Amino acid sequence: MTKERIAILGATGSIGTSALEVIGLHPERFEVVSLTAASRGEELARLCAKWRPSRAIIAKAECEGALKARLAALGVENIEVLSGEAAIAAEAARSDVDTVLLAIVGAAGLAPSFAAARAGKRMLLANKESVVCGGRLLMDTVTQSGATLLPVDSEHSAIYQSLKSRGVPATPFEIVLTCSGGPFRNRADLSGITPEDALAHPTWAMGAKITIDSATLMNKGLEVIEARYLFDCAPKHIHVVIHPQSIIHSMVRFADGCAIAQLGLPDMKSPIAFALGYPERIASGVAPLALEKIGSLTFEAPDTNRFPLLKLAYEALSDKAAATTVLNAANEVAVDAFLRRALSFTGIFKAVALTLEHFDLPEVTTLDDILAVDREARLKAKEALTRC
Ligand code: NAD
Ligand code: MG
Repeated sequence: MTKERIAILGATGSIGTSALEVIGLHPERFEVVSLTAASRGEELARLCAKWRPSRAIIAKAECEGALKARLAALGVENIEVLSGEAAIAAEAARSDVDTVLLAIVGAAGLAPSFAAARAGKRMLLANKESVVCGGRLLMDTVTQSGATLLPVDSEHSAIYQSLKSRGVPATPFEIVLTCSGGPFRNRADLSGITPEDALAHPTWAMGAKITIDSATLMNKGLEVIEARYLFDCAPKHIHVVIHPQSIIHSMVRFADGCAIAQLGLPDMKSPIAFALGYPERIASGVAPLALEKIGSLTFEAPDTNRFPLLKLAYEALSDKAAATTVLNAANEVAVDAFLRRALSFTGIFKAVALTLEHFDLPEVTTLDDILAVDREARLKAKEALTRC
């Protein structure tokens, strides 16, 4: 069997390391050809010592020297070391890469997603922000090049699995995205919340940014947008239901009133293994689901008065295409400020709403247009922070 050559973009993160764990279960199947990180050279070097890729790429150019020194200290030879965000995007299109795991966090993953799409790669897509920003343009690029896009986000993997199991994809369907509700589901007053409070997610262990997004429910808003584009489903047919146990990962409802759902323990190794192995099912290392141990599955409607970012995500979808890029950029700036203790938890809602409110949305038809909107939105969001 020829090995599938895989590039892991965002290798040091939560998704990147989980994916490497799954890959480690199938040494006959995958060859890791490159690993990338933002700035944590120590960690990247450690992963290179274990996986022996052909290339290691670090986004921050000033970290390249330290990475090389660390690799040499660990005895890692025959490895090309590169730096810069452009080198990471170029990696996604290399001819010796079959499959790209897009596991960078934030809009920094946008250019790599487009590069992988243009090059017709097999894309395992965790980086939801690139779908939120790239929208229709990214999906058209995937279609035109013949790339294969497999969602890694657990809800979208669940929808993909539920749709595929039907065999007849063209029938009308509705999407029901499940949402844990985050740590503040039952908290009436959201003032005074610290980063430590918000980083304690009840069911999922994830990177810091998505954990805060889960606490504000912006993560679900981003996922509504992601579902809109990945499955070409009108926003009015995408619903959200709170399901605190995170066992049902999402479902699809059909004209006969029936729903097909996908269930599993809340561990990202399951959707990662699904995308890695597709169309085969391969071992993920996740324990089998034993519902008798879970006991009960409960559901409730989301409260968009306490968590207004979910409503704002739907509103952005009904506006010009650039609105979701602005929403995403403002949220990234606000979450960063919250984690630095420069903004309150509820200030995240205000900063995002203020940024969108005063934004003169242009038409976007190219990746450069989207990147320009992203840059401008970040500037506006930083101004908005001073008023929150
Ligand atoms: P993380 O913060 O744990 O890791 C992010 C990775 O991206 C790291 O390797 C980091 O070095 C790299 N990175 C950050 N900024 C970069 C930049 N500017 N240029 C290049 N590389 C950069 O994040 P995560 O939780 O693994 O999430 C990754 C993506 O997957 C996000 O888009 C997230 O929404 C999505 N996702 C994550 C989970 C999860 O369980 N963690 C679930 C579903 C979807
Ligand atoms: Mg998700």
